Amino acid sequence: MRVKETLHIDGRWTSAADGASREIIDPADGGVLAVVAEAAAADADAAVAAARAAFDQGPWPRTPVAERAALLRRTAELLQRDREELALLESRDTGKTLDEGRIDVDDVTAAFRYFADLAAGEPAERVVDAGGDGVHSTVVHEPVGVCALITPWNYPLLQASWKIAPALAAGNTFVVKPSEVTPLSTVALLDLLVEAGLPAGVGNLLTGAGLPAGARLAEHPGVDLVSFTGGLSSGVKVMRAAAPGVKKVALELGGKNPNVVFADACATDEGFDTAVDQALNAAFVHSGQVCSAGSRLIVEESVRTRFVTELARRADLIRLGRGTSRGAECGPLVSAAQLARTEEYVASALAEGAALRCGGVRPAPTPDLPAGGYFYRPTVLDHCHRGMRVIREEIFGPVLTVETFTTEDEAVALANDTEYGLAGAVFTADPERGRRVAARLRHGTVWINDYHPYLPQAEWGGFGKSGIGRELGPAGLAEYRESKHVYENLRPQPVRWFAGGRAD
Ligand code: NAD
Repeated sequence: MRVKETLHIDGRWTSAADGASREIIDPADGGVLAVVAEAAAADADAAVAAARAAFDQGPWPRTPVAERAALLRRTAELLQRDREELALLESRDTGKTLDEGRIDVDDVTAAFRYFADLAAGEPAERVVDAGGDGVHSTVVHEPVGVCALITPWNYPLLQASWKIAPALAAGNTFVVKPSEVTPLSTVALLDLLVEAGLPAGVGNLLTGAGLPAGARLAEHPGVDLVSFTGGLSSGVKVMRAAAPGVKKVALELGGKNPNVVFADACATDEGFDTAVDQALNAAFVHSGQVCSAGSRLIVEESVRTRFVTELARRADLIRLGRGTSRGAECGPLVSAAQLARTEEYVASALAEGAALRCGGVRPAPTPDLPAGGYFYRPTVLDHCHRGMRVIREEIFGPVLTVETFTTEDEAVALANDTEYGLAGAVFTADPERGRRVAARLRHGTVWINDYHPYLPQAEWGGFGKSGIGRELGPAGLAEYRESKHVYENLRPQPVRWFAGGRAD
């Protein structure tokens, strides 16, 4: 990793104009992992200027889509070539396990291939029936322009790719700004894009904080579209900053995601085992630092005691460790701030009457759990209710809350009782009920008897305050396009709307 020269502007790797830098912290022990450039507003201006020039004067927007798709496919090959290296980098930077890092690289590869195929496989234009043969009317797609792509720390490589791949496929130029907490894999991704043939200026990268670098991108008059993934309060600021320029804005924000378990799902030993196992997976993968984490268990009252007892028993067995350690099932939280936030939320829940079933503490230090690391035990909080902050607000840590219901209507009402609407699940042995409940959930992704899978071909995004727009799927490409209607009169004649100048 190059030290400090982590800005990529107009085809060159460079340090910040004012020389500022930032230490990137290893969440497993608090040590310094790398030193990167800390972009200021002037660096953001330079990056936007490069992207603007590449869009306005360069060939990229008019490059045949097959060539743009070929660049995406070459990038996908390079991602697989460097799979282990990238997985290791992502694991060390975010704290996630190496296996999760590998899954991320494979998902990123799939996204690059999907958008290459989608863009290249489409007809160049849609002919519109204008109601007569004197008119040729078509709708064509054009790129939006310069895209500012701002991403969070939990899935750095994945979130950057869900934006970069469709932006490039559609012919845009971009400036990407990863989270200041975990920028390393995005730097590596830019290296791969350059190796794959990315022209200078088409893709630019800023390492640096939300303020000033991200905020400058959101307000910059040279930017046409801001695609932001992150927290709700930052998303609101981005939207506000983009408003005077009437930029296109796509937001992927947080979630407070319900996992609804009906008693009938637990009627057999096998069903019970599956529902408990999936509830653990929903809540604790990546230590709960997942926007779609099933952090609210909503379980039918008649099975609550058995379910929560088994859930807490198994949560207590989850092996914590450095993400890169063999056998670690959950790594540390990403930062000291995230650990403090989690502790504060658990304390608030206990003060408000929740019952601690497991966790609620940092683990005792061991050689694989250094005292300087940001580890926290998976935590189950029973007897939670709407009045508590932990039910309403996103924690983004390994904390699962438990609420109960007695009727299907009550289950649906609880599951929808959130200002967010990103994802949710229903577990039931009754297929009719599964589909009925899924149809009533106001969430962008709904799983029936499963949790977490997603497909690059299917749109991802949220209802309510979980965001605006969609990533992945055809809509994920449409975000990066303008539609243009070209109406050609094949037999032009005067229309004579105005009488003046008429020959008669
Ligand atoms: P965050 O909002 O703190 O930061 C996200 C990004 O925005 C970072 O790059 C940050 O530097 C930048 N930023 C911060 N303030 C800004 C501003 N005023 N203007 C412009 N940019 C600014 O979020 P985070 O803590 O990095 O990530 C966690 C959040 O991301 C959670 O809320 C999570 O739910 C959400 N998330 C959502 C999805 C999804 O698909 N919906 C996916 C992953 C994460």
